[in-house]
Amino acid sequence: MREFFKVLKYIVPYWFRASLNVIFNVLSALFALFSFTMTVPFLRILFDTQSLVLEKVPLEMTKDSLGNNLNYLISYLITNHGKGEALMYVSIGVIFVTFLKASFRYLANHFLAPVRTGVEKDIRNDIYRKILRLPLSYYTDARKGDVISRISTDVKEVEVSIMSSLEMLFRDPITILIFLTSMFVINVKLTLLALIMLPISGVLIGRIGKKLKTTAFKGRKKMGILISVIEETLSGLRIIKAFNAEEHFEGVFGQTNNTFARLQKTVHRRRYLAGPLSEFLSTTVMMVLMFYGGNLVLSGDSGLSSELFIAYIIIFSQLIVPAKNISTAYFNIQKGMASMDRINYILNAEETIKDVDNPVSISDFNDSIVFRDVDFSYNTEPVLKKINLTVKRGQTIALVGQSGGGKSTLADLVPRFIDPQGGEVLLDGISVKQYKIKDLRNLMGIVNQEPILFNDSFYNNIAFGVNGSRRDAVINAAKAANAHDFIMETPDGYESNIGERGGKLSGGQRQRLSIARALLKDPPILIFDEATSSLDTESERLVQDAIEKLKENRTTLVIAHRLSTIKNADMICVIHEGKVVESGKHEELLTKKGYYYKLHNLQVEK
Ligand code: ADP
Ligand code: MG
Repeated sequence: MREFFKVLKYIVPYWFRASLNVIFNVLSALFALFSFTMTVPFLRILFDTQSLVLEKVPLEMTKDSLGNNLNYLISYLITNHGKGEALMYVSIGVIFVTFLKASFRYLANHFLAPVRTGVEKDIRNDIYRKILRLPLSYYTDARKGDVISRISTDVKEVEVSIMSSLEMLFRDPITILIFLTSMFVINVKLTLLALIMLPISGVLIGRIGKKLKTTAFKGRKKMGILISVIEETLSGLRIIKAFNAEEHFEGVFGQTNNTFARLQKTVHRRRYLAGPLSEFLSTTVMMVLMFYGGNLVLSGDSGLSSELFIAYIIIFSQLIVPAKNISTAYFNIQKGMASMDRINYILNAEETIKDVDNPVSISDFNDSIVFRDVDFSYNTEPVLKKINLTVKRGQTIALVGQSGGGKSTLADLVPRFIDPQGGEVLLDGISVKQYKIKDLRNLMGIVNQEPILFNDSFYNNIAFGVNGSRRDAVINAAKAANAHDFIMETPDGYESNIGERGGKLSGGQRQRLSIARALLKDPPILIFDEATSSLDTESERLVQDAIEKLKENRTTLVIAHRLSTIKNADMICVIHEGKVVESGKHEELLTKKGYYYKLHNLQVEK
């Protein structure tokens, strides 16, 4: 139930329209009741039991006064216009009242629409904001597709299942209350009998609802896996085709899809149970009432006339629909709560990397980056062990070593993509954790092995993240990164679209674009993580040339695979199994005949 109130929290900003919805629903219920009670005079005229009231009574809001006034009006119609016409007027009255009832119902829904869509929108915004703020490490554990399914299908499910039911939850109890009150007014005993039978149905319905939620939750999880498979398939289509793995993927997808369908089937079946079950239960109650009430009428001394009893039964029968709605709503809410749980799982996920209270601002890098006794592990296995390293301002430091040694991990610590478990990273003497993350990352330009580009124009990809950059600055950056020429060769120049993740470009072109982007940002610190490793020699030369221009007057951390590119570094550190095992200049390290010497020889032999 507490979880349910979390959903209600989203309605708070829309309280005004939500209350209008409730008000119009109350009006609609009142007029509905009114239209049903109109059957009494109708039947009386028909059965000729209408006693003529020819005296007007003062109009008051009591059962007797209202009844007498209505009777007076009808008696007036009968005596002056005849029975046939009186029936017609009563019918027209019912039509008019029903028209009002229907109009209020529409108005109620009119104001519900913005609440529904608003809540859906707000939840989606919240998740997206959270997605942007969660640390990178979150996504190595959570499948991307699962996150996508939470923000798309689960949010929709909440809207469809919970929001649509909320209306019933607000409206139908009011309707029931109004109808029940009128039933009490007509006959107390009969109504008490009806109320006694209610809890039994409640328990039954509650039981089924619980099970429904569990199954629905399993179903949503499968949906997450399903979208993950789709996501992986789309991004790996080239490999799937190359390895003739279509059938394998079809199998994986088909199996998950089948399980999902099976779970959905159970969910639907349970949910479909809600309506018929409560319908059956209420009909049973109604028959008991009809039996008991019928006997009351027959006995003749209960003050219950046959017309009033028929009106009573009509009102009660109208109770069945909202009662059924409430149990359906309850089942739907259970179904939606399974999705809400999944949404809350993301919304409640811890943002492990965030600003400290009163973070320090920083706009320039003046002195040094120092790694002091840094320990890091992703899970239990230590990846970095007691790393000590100093990068002075203006220097170029190269990290080399076997793949899997921990170089990228080390570089990720500087912009705080990850935080170390032990030791600290200091920037100008202050731990990076103390800085405003935004300021800290503003100091850095990062170029990875796999350039991250967006499905947009050349221009926007270079200007990405730099607000209000001037056109000539963008072009200059592109020129310095050796990207200008190939950009100009495309049909629309800087406005050409580069395709999803830059799919229309070669690897070298993509890399030069991401270097242009870093150039435009003009940061004091540069981090290159194997920026040229995946390139052919010719592209590498162009990219390397761009990097050299970029490095001027900056502090650079280069992770390099090809040692030829870092020969001139001020310091080369060899990282082996999470430790700095050697450091020094190229020549020094060669004479040591240690790790670096071995690495070097391996590459020269090639
Ligand atoms: P390098 O860049 O030197 O090749 P990495 O820093 O990428 O090495 O990786 C170091 C070790 O950490 C490797 O053993 C790798 O398997 C592990 N590792 C890297 N990233 C993750 C991650 N997100 N989750 C768990 N383990 C990781
Ligand atoms: Mg790496």
